[in-house]
Amino acid sequence: MSNHESPFQHPEDQLKPDTNSHQQEVVKLLKQVIEPTLKNDIVSLGMVRNLRIVDQYIYLRLYIGSHQHQLHTEIQSVLSSLSWCKKTYLQICTIPGVRTTLAVSSGKGGVGKSTTAVNLAAALRLQGAKVGLLDADVYGPNLPQMLGLGQADIQVINTSTGDKFLPLEVQGIKLMSVGLLVEANRPLAWRGPVLHKIITQFLQDVEWGELDYLLIDLPPGTGDAQITIIQESPICGVILVTTPQQVAIADVRRNINMFRQVGVPVLGIIENMSYLICGDCGSRTPIFGSGGGEQLSAELQAPLLGQIPIDPDICSGGDTGNPIAIGFDIAQAKHRTSPASEVFAKIATAINATFLRIAE
Ligand code: ADP
Repeated sequence: MSNHESPFQHPEDQLKPDTNSHQQEVVKLLKQVIEPTLKNDIVSLGMVRNLRIVDQYIYLRLYIGSHQHQLHTEIQSVLSSLSWCKKTYLQICTIPGVRTTLAVSSGKGGVGKSTTAVNLAAALRLQGAKVGLLDADVYGPNLPQMLGLGQADIQVINTSTGDKFLPLEVQGIKLMSVGLLVEANRPLAWRGPVLHKIITQFLQDVEWGELDYLLIDLPPGTGDAQITIIQESPICGVILVTTPQQVAIADVRRNINMFRQVGVPVLGIIENMSYLICGDCGSRTPIFGSGGGEQLSAELQAPLLGQIPIDPDICSGGDTGNPIAIGFDIAQAKHRTSPASEVFAKIATAINATFLRIAE
């Protein structure tokens, strides 16, 4: 490292008019770099974060998938036109082998975030994608149970980049969970630096192999754990889960603002437990109120991706490790669709249309 100042010690530098105009110049150039699959510029896509200019040095962090390393060269190339810039320090945040990292988040617990993460993973898998699930809900990791796994031994393998956890594979989905690393029924009471270390190790030290998607099930809310995960992983979009209740909606609003502040694109909102379908007449009763998801979608300009009914099969499927999106009927040896599985399939199709629109 050369003898210039650290980029992190002098936030007041941002206020200097000269640096500010340099900042604008850099952002303008970075906006010329277009991500070819998403057909948008890397700044708008939230792929460039922590941009800092100190003296004549540019520092930035680039959040990319395994197929996007060419963007690094393009960035260096556009920034080389700056006569005042002595050097660009570009730090890459990526997860080896993983193309697209998506997060599933909620403002509060109990709204069906984990259920949604598991079912989206299952729906994407059914459509042929290679999918991994990272249960980063450090306060209540229950994805193993939702996929029918109890306590399992996690293998550690030695790779050229150090020791790595090997994810488990269940129903064609790769899974890693903090819940697999701790004793069952033991409360997870990690805080501060320990929590930060566990999370970063989790994000960096799993040998996923080749994945089209890694879905990260975030802890609910907007605390330390969430912020660490968002900063340390190349999340290219977040899906927010809410119920139609006003109280859940207020929390989602906070949650969305947190993602927008750090520049992570919000892909949309899923409203869970939207209505109950009457088994006799098929009529829909909005048990938890109605219109919440739509109202939020309009107010925050985030699309409403789907509305999932209350369905006892979702609950029992979660308890027995049989996600409704897979809905495999053993008696008939075929997949059985339901209104909920159709919503998950529709959202999976939309995700594929966005992120796998590739000429490989
Ligand atoms: P969160 O991750 O937000 O805390 P979970 O996904 O663990 O919430 O869901 C909480 C409980 O609600 C679980 O028992 C789950 O099976 C149940 N559940 C979630 N969504 C539905 C639904 N649409 N219909 C019926 N039960 C649901």
